[in-house]
Amino acid sequence: MNKMFIFLLLLTAVAVFVYMRYPDIITIMKDRVMTMTEKTEKLPAPTEDNLITSLNKALADEWLAYYQYWIGAQIIKGVIADKVKAELLEHAGEELKHAVMLAERIIQLGGMPLLEPKEWYNFKVCGYIKPSSTDTKSLLRENLTGEICAVSEYKKLMAKTEKTDPTTYNMLASILVDEEKHVKDLNELLVEANKA
Ligand code: FE
Ligand code: FE
Ligand code: MG
Repeated sequence: MNKMFIFLLLLTAVAVFVYMRYPDIITIMKDRVMTMTEKTEKLPAPTEDNLITSLNKALADEWLAYYQYWIGAQIIKGVIADKVKAELLEHAGEELKHAVMLAERIIQLGGMPLLEPKEWYNFKVCGYIKPSSTDTKSLLRENLTGEICAVSEYKKLMAKTEKTDPTTYNMLASILVDEEKHVKDLNELLVEANKA
């Protein structure tokens, strides 16, 4: 009991000391919380021309690409469907990895990755193509359209960052390697499906 009293007394003394030494401490802490709240509440605008916004646009596209592949893998029917399904799921996983890389870089740069899935449609560039059919070839063609757009967008972003931000540039370059491989893989599967 006595120990507890001494502990509380000490705690109060420390609190009084801190408050006297730094009279602004409460205001500072309040500001800290405020800026954090503002940071999460203020939604970024897709019209802003800066790197964080561009990276958020890529992030939105990656999530939409992920779903495009994933839903295709669920519904696919027709020639070489099992083989294509496996590839679609593999690509879906790779799009998700790209999303992780982008989100991490946005945070490193002091930005905030999109917090609302509904923002994906405001920020999308390549976007999402709703499957028009469950057919293998049709799904492959739709995914291919998205990938061709992704390749072109990553090249544009690389041109933007080449001289100013080598870290982001290198990250984009490694994503581009995957996107070009996606184009190649989808093209090859399309050729195979057309022959089957
Ligand atoms: Fe991707
Ligand atoms: Fe891709
Ligand atoms: Mg592949």
